[in-house]
Amino acid sequence: MLLRNRLLFRNLTSFLPSPSPPPKSVSFILSFNKTITYSTHKLPESKPQVAASRATKQPMSEMARFAKTVLFVPPGVDPEDVTDEMVLPGSNIVLGPYSGHSQIKEVEFVKSSGRAKDCPKDNRPEFAILGRSNVGKSSLINALVRKKEVALTSKKPGKTQLINHFLVNKSWYIVDLPGYGFAKASDTARTDWSSFTKGYFLNRETLVAVLLLIDASVPPQRIDLDCANWLGRNNIPMTFVFTKCDKMKASKGKRPDENIRDFQELIRENYKQHPPWIMTSSVTGLGRDELLLHLSQLRNYWDQ
Ligand code: GDP
Repeated sequence: MLLRNRLLFRNLTSFLPSPSPPPKSVSFILSFNKTITYSTHKLPESKPQVAASRATKQPMSEMARFAKTVLFVPPGVDPEDVTDEMVLPGSNIVLGPYSGHSQIKEVEFVKSSGRAKDCPKDNRPEFAILGRSNVGKSSLINALVRKKEVALTSKKPGKTQLINHFLVNKSWYIVDLPGYGFAKASDTARTDWSSFTKGYFLNRETLVAVLLLIDASVPPQRIDLDCANWLGRNNIPMTFVFTKCDKMKASKGKRPDENIRDFQELIRENYKQHPPWIMTSSVTGLGRDELLLHLSQLRNYWDQ
């Protein structure tokens, strides 16, 4: 077993819930709102274990329980068949049969839209990138597409409060959404942000998933947790993309891996299955290729 996977496995096991967690008042399973549903793959419950509980009690295998509750098991993969080599390093994401061509060859800015109904109507799958101001959104977009000017487009005055569509490889979109949580924003500005983007999330049928960026160099922030919970409550699929994971030598406070663990602890209360998450750094390139692979499997499944 590769050391990195062993480390990953050990880190992940710390997220395993206790054997019989009490029912939570707010408990929901994230599902892909279009064609992708987490429960479309065979979950252990759908296996003979329900019947088995009446006769001979067959406990779910440790790996299947781990896979089901902690890992993101994509469509086409049986949790029973997951091995640690299938888990993308620095993430809880299992790579399945739908992963494929993932590299970005070309990207072009298509348009900025003020409302969801003004967005491109060509039915291509898209991933929205969302996060607090200064989380590293522009840096991540630049790192993904390996072009500096792309995210600059959305930083131009006037475009920051718009939904910006970038067409990748002429087949799918990266969507840059306005950042939230400006330190000095007034309450009115905050409300505007939420009504503006809510319309997009709730009405955009081609949205495959939201990449919710979380700064791993700081402790969990209430506004990020609120945003994640709002997306979850509205059944909007999301992937947590932890940014700035290179800042391992924090002079004060906790290290990124500790902040990530704290964030997961807080999030876990609301999910039966943990949403996919991945560690990234725009400085070192950590997680870039893995994130692109993850997007490819979501996209290819959505596309079929
Ligand atoms: P945005 O406001 O979310 O678009 O954030 P930016 O991409 O402009 O980044 C905000 C600040 O964080 C800048 O000073 C970046 O240099 C820094 N930053 C962004 N990504 C990383 C990263 O992965 N590692 C480190 N160490 N700094 C980063």
